[in-house]
Amino acid sequence: MLRITGGTIVTPEAMIRGDVLTDGAQIAAIGRVDAAGATPLPADGCLVLPGIIDCHVHYLLTSGAYTTRDDFASASRAAAAGGVTTAIDYVTQHKGESFQAAIAGRRAEAEGQVYIDYGLHLIVTDVGQGQLDEVAAVVAGGVPSAKVYTTYKASGFYLDDWSWYRLLQRAGAAGLLVTVHAENDDLLEGRKAELVRAGATALRYHAEARPALAEVEAVHRGLLLARSAGAPVYFVHLSSPASVHAIREARRAGQRAFAETCTHYLTLTDEVYAGPHPERYLMTPPLRGAAEQQELWRALAAGDIDCVGSDHCGYSLDQRLGLDFTRVSPGIPGTELLLPLLYSEGVARGRIAPSQLVRVIADAPARLFGLYPRKGTIVPGADADLVIYDPAERWTVSADALHSRAGYSPYEGLTVQGRVRTTISRGEVIYDRGQFTGTPGRGRFVPGRPFAPEGVAAG
Ligand code: MN
Repeated sequence: MLRITGGTIVTPEAMIRGDVLTDGAQIAAIGRVDAAGATPLPADGCLVLPGIIDCHVHYLLTSGAYTTRDDFASASRAAAAGGVTTAIDYVTQHKGESFQAAIAGRRAEAEGQVYIDYGLHLIVTDVGQGQLDEVAAVVAGGVPSAKVYTTYKASGFYLDDWSWYRLLQRAGAAGLLVTVHAENDDLLEGRKAELVRAGATALRYHAEARPALAEVEAVHRGLLLARSAGAPVYFVHLSSPASVHAIREARRAGQRAFAETCTHYLTLTDEVYAGPHPERYLMTPPLRGAAEQQELWRALAAGDIDCVGSDHCGYSLDQRLGLDFTRVSPGIPGTELLLPLLYSEGVARGRIAPSQLVRVIADAPARLFGLYPRKGTIVPGADADLVIYDPAERWTVSADALHSRAGYSPYEGLTVQGRVRTTISRGEVIYDRGQFTGTPGRGRFVPGRPFAPEGVAAG
């Protein structure tokens, strides 16, 4: 039993001064607790948050010629240092492969490696009749979300509109939430060809090659397809406020549509591509301008963005040496900084309230991906996944002090307000003041229940 004392408990509804008592792997009580025999864990001056859910990570990803330096062990260890207690990773279904075989293979890769609990999203690349008939079994097996890519034909991730539409038609009744990487492939390929003809293939042209128009078009298309199919739809890693506005309008008209953005779109802008290190910022979609970023913050505060993920993807910079933007495997590390950056740039700067922080990186991801109330909240009976966050500490990001094997950080040199002091997973302290006390393999697969979120902003 642990008794976390003297902190301020943050929930989506309120800030509560009080203690949290754990009993074994679960939360036993909050507020004034009766706790003879519990081990005290002082949190004076600190915030006590639900364990963070990073709803968008790629722990071990092969794309094109490269495999991420981060694997399940190194990425989930970095996550633990950042207060993340549940990560939702992606399973790639290869062409012709059954959904369930892909999921079983991914779970086998994670087995014995992971420091924190994890869920899975299924990346759908091939929708034959056999696979569509698997949808119900996939959901019953604890994977209630699938992702489709509207781009990446060359690397095999792309799913054509007809296949995507057929998946949506099956999804609604099955309790599957279809999530979408929205970028119109034809627009991207056309723009890329134009830049190649002009000899503009250096890494600094990455953002110019992927205009916001491509994202916004695919979001509109996805909203239309999902509405026609009667299915809920969720758009991952949105970079453009125009995408968020389209989703907001659809919601107002009664559609079940959800929006996710990522830490980097809220904290970095496209000016970095003209700087000395464009190789640090090669994610898709790319970073946008300062005005767009401000609008994303407003949308986050207003509840028009449901979730924030890191899109953690631990390629190292040497895997980009000598490549032009057309050959790079995109992705950046970031799971360890999801909470600190959202706190520092969001809460400490007055852009979002602490309760909204907890909503977008714990409560809403738990609800949307079927983990609520076991994960994402601080109530008796929930898993004792907790973070003690010291809002007073101020520090500067240095990749040397982070834990991803990517070996660099796009946030290098940024000053951060507040720091993760202690991370608790199922009642066990797994990280405390720079020391890892958990072990790889202690993390478990957490099955998600079918999509049926209560209390999520939707029409
Ligand atoms: Mn991603």
